[in-house]
Amino acid sequence: MSRHSASAERPVAAHVEYDVDLTTANSLALPCRAERLIRCRSLQELRAARHYACAEQLPITLLGGGSNSLCPPTIEGLVVKIEAPLSGAGGRCYSELTQGADSRSVIIEVAAGVNWAQLVAETVAAGLAGLENLALIPGTVGAAPIQNIGAYGVELADVLHSVDFYDWHSDQLLSLSVQECQLGYRDSRFKGELAGQGAVLSVRLTLQRERADTRYQTSYPALATALRKAGENAPSAASIARAVCAIRRSKLPEPATEPNAGSFFKNPVVAQEQFARLLQRYPAIPHYPSAIDGCVKIAAAWLIEQCGLKGYRSGAVATHARQPLVLVNVGGADLAALLTFAEQIAEAVKQKFAIALEREPQPPTAFVWSQSEAPSAV
Ligand SMILES: Cc1cc2nc3c(=O)[nH]c(=O)nc-3n(C[C@H](O)[C@H](O)[C@H](O)COP(=O)(O)OP(=O)(O)OC[C@H]3O[C@@H](n4cnc5c(N)ncnc54)[C@H](O)[C@@H]3O)c2cc1C
Repeated sequence: MSRHSASAERPVAAHVEYDVDLTTANSLALPCRAERLIRCRSLQELRAARHYACAEQLPITLLGGGSNSLCPPTIEGLVVKIEAPLSGAGGRCYSELTQGADSRSVIIEVAAGVNWAQLVAETVAAGLAGLENLALIPGTVGAAPIQNIGAYGVELADVLHSVDFYDWHSDQLLSLSVQECQLGYRDSRFKGELAGQGAVLSVRLTLQRERADTRYQTSYPALATALRKAGENAPSAASIARAVCAIRRSKLPEPATEPNAGSFFKNPVVAQEQFARLLQRYPAIPHYPSAIDGCVKIAAAWLIEQCGLKGYRSGAVATHARQPLVLVNVGGADLAALLTFAEQIAEAVKQKFAIALEREPQPPTAFVWSQSEAPSAV
């Protein structure tokens, strides 16, 4: 872990908004208001927000695109909303740190507020491979390491180089290597020991310049089938991204019309012995290898469907008719209603399969000042 000096920075004043409606700023459309909100695009703006929150002793809650957050009716204290920088480097949303067109791998740097799907589209169009399987995932770049986003056989851990993390407590900018981020299946150090402790300011990724011998990840069954059907014998980053986008559009509801947070539960990971018993009883159970030795990952969507809960609705919440792992706010549900519904689903799966489902989206963790960080400590 390395620390950056910030001596050359000019201080900026924080622009505070009061009583801000965040219902349209979270993809589940949960009614939510922020008592106070500051939008941040740079380290200076984060520092100004910290200075303000510390002086007022306000807890700080971070929000990016709001596509993986369970927002309560009121967020007390200060919400810091990470937004995209006003202009990208050379018209692009990322900058290349590795120079020379002949170098095979390229390290790029991206600001936290950049839209992830835009980053994938731009890197793919520039002939850089590595992000194509992660096309169309909503949200910001800065939130990608928080749950180690993943899809179609690739996860952020496969390409992450390092992260710049601004620590609220110490007012320091830390550079964390991919190992120091401790990425796991929809998990990271930012969800554990560092939860709520600071903001990812920028992310560096290692991508590959596409060449005739570039290797792609195409083994995920739905992707392999789509590429075969499209007659793609020699796939490229662009053709893989196209196939992934088509699969996602056909399977996943669009939050703008059917508010949701993507997969609501993680695919449960069970011990090999428990899996063997399940397989005997349910030979068709969809399963995947797990990174944990002696364990197998099971498709949570299948478990929910087997409980007869595909397309099930109770009050203002439903499981989606095509993808039961996605919970949809069908109109007017708040966080309490959503959590009650989710508990019903998890309980049904537990009763039938003796498997505990774990939620993927979480309420954002707030940073709270300690006694020693009274205003004089700013
Ligand atoms: C339709 C749909 C499909 C999805 N598909 C996938 C998928 O295929 N794979 C997948 O992995 N996920 C998927 N997701 C979940 C979501 O897109 C990702 O988790 C995404 O990374 C969330 O980004 P965000 O900016 O919206 O995060 P937010 O919801 O704003 O924040 C999520 C968490 O990260 C914290 N956070 C946000 N920004 C920062 C920052 N800069 N620094 C520190 N902490 C921060 C927040 O405090 C919060 O705790 C999907 C969601 C939807 C709605």
